[in-house]
Amino acid sequence: MASETETNNAANEEALRREIETKLRAGLETEAMPRADSHERVQEIIARLRASDGSLEAKLVIGGFTLEPVVHEGIEQACETCMYYLVHRKWCELPELDLPVEPKWSCRLWRI
Ligand code: SF4
Repeated sequence: MASETETNNAANEEALRREIETKLRAGLETEAMPRADSHERVQEIIARLRASDGSLEAKLVIGGFTLEPVVHEGIEQACETCMYYLVHRKWCELPELDLPVEPKWSCRLWRI
């Protein structure tokens, strides 16, 4: 059985997930393109995330979050197929993002 702390953490994570969804549905403009499909581009985006204020908005905008998977070069780039996705926690473990996500969301740092 889950402890009270675990239950509270899960509730907090779900609240943050809904906050992200609300911001994106409200039209927050994120840099979904260009995708990070070269080493240089990945390094550039990671450097910008590290230099940012680390706020939720900065992560969503610079990371290029979307509520639907982006299809790039014939590949559907959804969180659920990304190497950084923790399936049981519905979490992105890329250190510069470190956020709760949904399986069908996406960001431009998607990686297989
Ligand atoms: S890095 Fe992967 S798991 Fe994290 S938000 Fe982007 S697509 Fe989703």
